[in-house]
Amino acid sequence: MSSLHLDQIRLPAEAQRLRAEAREFVQGEIAAGTFDPHRCAMHPGFSPAFSRKVGARGWIGLTWPKQYGGHERTFLERYVVTEEFRVANAPVGLHFTADRQSGPMLLKYANERIKSDVLPRITRGECCFCIGMSEPDSGSDLFAANVRATACEGGFKVRGTKVWTTGAHHADYMIGLFRTSAPTPDNRRHGLTQFLVDMKSPGIAVSPIANLAGQHEFNEVVFDDVFVPRDHALGDLDMAWKQATSELAFERSGPERFLETSYLFFELVRVLGTQPDVRGLEGIGRLVAQLHTLRRMSISVNGMLQAGKEPIVEGSVVKDLGTVWQQQLPHLARDLTAFLDPATDRQRFDEFLAHAMTIVPKLTIQGGTTEVLRGIIARGLGLR
Ligand SMILES: Cc1cc2nc3c(=O)[nH]c(=O)nc-3n(C[C@H](O)[C@H](O)[C@H](O)COP(=O)(O)OP(=O)(O)OC[C@H]3O[C@@H](n4cnc5c(N)ncnc54)[C@H](O)[C@@H]3O)c2cc1C
Repeated sequence: MSSLHLDQIRLPAEAQRLRAEAREFVQGEIAAGTFDPHRCAMHPGFSPAFSRKVGARGWIGLTWPKQYGGHERTFLERYVVTEEFRVANAPVGLHFTADRQSGPMLLKYANERIKSDVLPRITRGECCFCIGMSEPDSGSDLFAANVRATACEGGFKVRGTKVWTTGAHHADYMIGLFRTSAPTPDNRRHGLTQFLVDMKSPGIAVSPIANLAGQHEFNEVVFDDVFVPRDHALGDLDMAWKQATSELAFERSGPERFLETSYLFFELVRVLGTQPDVRGLEGIGRLVAQLHTLRRMSISVNGMLQAGKEPIVEGSVVKDLGTVWQQQLPHLARDLTAFLDPATDRQRFDEFLAHAMTIVPKLTIQGGTTEVLRGIIARGLGLR
């Protein structure tokens, strides 16, 4: 049987130094009124001004080659910047997806012209990406995707519907997974290709879908014979099944996978005060111990990415455990505060609690469902 392997990795001194810089920067932006961390906890922020400032600091594309506007720093340095921005609820919506996964995809599979044009714009905080994988009849089973890209002169015509596309209403580009030929009898994964799609192309219609909290984060995207140039195909035609899975290691392993509701945890600690009762102490102790373990695991996965490994199983474990932790948090927070001193100022806590309760159901679905992740983990461990 295979085993799960997490390298023992600690954050190096340069990452700790960068953490101090990132924290100071974020505090400065809050003080200057660029964003309100309490509002952004419940309304994930999208701020072109903030993203441009982050780009100017050199914190987008941290690990990418300098030749494309990157900074050739480590995944562990990227980890601390992500963590600092996340716990401060910083408005990273414009650049986050591009920085985390679309840029690395382009680096690996796009041609030189696209890399030289698009990657520097991402690193300057000027370019927003969305991910077009899910469709009305294919979600977990990506290889059933059926939006067609049919060859035409100079490129392809794309026709069909993608759904749940986060940030499509802001995006400059999508990395879309489209069917370029039929599956073969011996390989049902064959026949899909990833493309870079300019979201301003004629024929694209983006419509909002409200989430459980009534917010507009994801969308339906309809393609009506949208022209995509031939050189916008990423990697080999029909071979996306070899590429889409490596993107998922980037998508699943970061601190955002267990810090999305950290605002509630900090408020919980605040309202319990400096002398909580024994239940409060035990509850906070447990949550901190679990969070510490999750951080160590996520840091380890990022260290493994740095070492050039593809920790897909380990990244899936982080995402799954992070989901479980975050989904338990609102329930524990409610129980631990049931008998608070009535004089406690808990208005903000109650707002955060209500919001977290509403959004945590999505965590088992976004970025790969819990059942599917556990299937990947079981396969990685040789159990199925
Ligand atoms: C907040 C949010 C943001 C999202 N953003 C994006 C985005 O930007 N781009 C994008 O492309 N998609 C996005 N998605 C879509 C998401 O990736 C899909 O919803 C997800 O992959 C599940 O697909 P589905 O909804 O079709 O459910 P299905 O795949 O139909 O699954 C339904 C149920 O069946 C279970 N199931 C399915 N297959 C198996 C299996 N083999 N073994 C065991 N159980 C199984 C699932 O776990 C689930 O419980 C987003 C989703 C959410 C909630």
